[in-house]
Amino acid sequence: MNIIMLGAGYVGLVSGACFAEFGVNVTCVDPDESKIQRLHDGIIPIYEPGLDDLVKKNVEAGRLAFTTSLSKCVQKVDAIFIAVGTPTRRGDGHADLSYVYQAARDIANYLTEDHFTVVVTKSTVPIGTGREVEKNIRETNSKANFAVASNPEFLREGSAIGDFMRPDRVVFGTNNAQASEVMKALYRPLYLLETPIVQTTLESSELTKYAGNAFLATKITFINEMADLCEKVGANVQDVARGIGLDGRIGKKFLHAGPGYGGSCFPKDTLALVKTAQSVGSPVRIVETVVDINNKRKQSMADRVIAAAGGSVKGMKVAVLGVSFKPNTDDMRDSVALDVIPALQAAGATVQAFDPVAMKEAERLLSDVKWMNDTYAALADASVAVILTEWNEFRSLDFARAKSLMASPILVDLRNIYNPNEMVNTGFSYTSIGR
Ligand code: NAD
Repeated sequence: MNIIMLGAGYVGLVSGACFAEFGVNVTCVDPDESKIQRLHDGIIPIYEPGLDDLVKKNVEAGRLAFTTSLSKCVQKVDAIFIAVGTPTRRGDGHADLSYVYQAARDIANYLTEDHFTVVVTKSTVPIGTGREVEKNIRETNSKANFAVASNPEFLREGSAIGDFMRPDRVVFGTNNAQASEVMKALYRPLYLLETPIVQTTLESSELTKYAGNAFLATKITFINEMADLCEKVGANVQDVARGIGLDGRIGKKFLHAGPGYGGSCFPKDTLALVKTAQSVGSPVRIVETVVDINNKRKQSMADRVIAAAGGSVKGMKVAVLGVSFKPNTDDMRDSVALDVIPALQAAGATVQAFDPVAMKEAERLLSDVKWMNDTYAALADASVAVILTEWNEFRSLDFARAKSLMASPILVDLRNIYNPNEMVNTGFSYTSIGR
């Protein structure tokens, strides 16, 4: 089979490489010339474990190619996936669909009468977008022989390849039988692994993605509020999370208390769901509350650092360990670091930070931060250290060395990666979440 992936970002590049690994011929198209040039040079533009080997292998096998121009590759493909960004639209919180509709218009000109193609929205798009994509294409090219399908992506950055190759389920929605056959053929290797395939209408498929992310964001926000309650009443949120998580109806995952969810998906998707629901007169008040609580939580994290430092960080050096929104990615989108660092700076601190992979991206988004070469360089002379991202290399700090380097031994662990009882012996003043 032959497919095109529009967008060579986190989702397009990973999905494209994984489909190629399934034996499909894939061309990834992206207007970003520097990104495509880097891919031609064998450089992976994002940090994703295992992706470099997978891309290399499939490029060498002749199944994976990259181009900036749709015109060069659109002949007789079975499916064109739209995997472009759908960020929050400035001003109103709805999903910005301009990249999706631009992609639809790009596609329309190349579809023909004599060859059937499925146009698949893999981007996370609000209910009704698939139908709008179909309308856009028909208006531009009334003779095009195509149908639209929705196939939301559930991969997680940092474990994206495993998530794509061995997903909990695949969801796709289409109202066209021929399109459904193409989608089944593309995912045939997963059928063989007995992966559950949930086939729905366009609308149900689109909503499934938002409902899933909103549910997970709610679960995180729930345990974060329990953590705050634990702090007031002397309970330990990790014990509470374990106690409820072992209940099969609740489940253990997404019950780690922390500084609030961030990343490229949950913040924008919860907000977009809230806006869609409001616009059709069926508000999702739980999700509205989750969005509000999470925003306030992220903004309040700097106050915890200031409190741990004795009430003020004015004139102090603060060491920040980790700035990506989670480990194993260089993605900074809606990372809690983007709230915490400017708030600390506004309170008079000088921030010196280290992240194993995200500093290049972070430099574009944060100003006046001293970017250090390693963990201990970031700790040098700092009056307080903050763990913002739970990278493995922060999990076994040499506390004697850290103490000798720092101006005062104060650690704020916003990811609960250390045990408070064990921290007592290190001589550090230690603050964590909900314990
Ligand atoms: P991204 O910003 O990493 O990549 C988007 C890419 O699309 C960019 O490289 C951009 O240059 C390209 N692009 C823009 N317009 C284009 C066009 N007309 N034709 C071809 N390419 C074009 O975004 P991402 O993180 O890969 O997310 C893509 C979509 O997938 C979003 O809707 C997102 O919500 C969803 N999603 C993301 C994740 C994730 O973990 N990142 C997981 C599941 C779903």
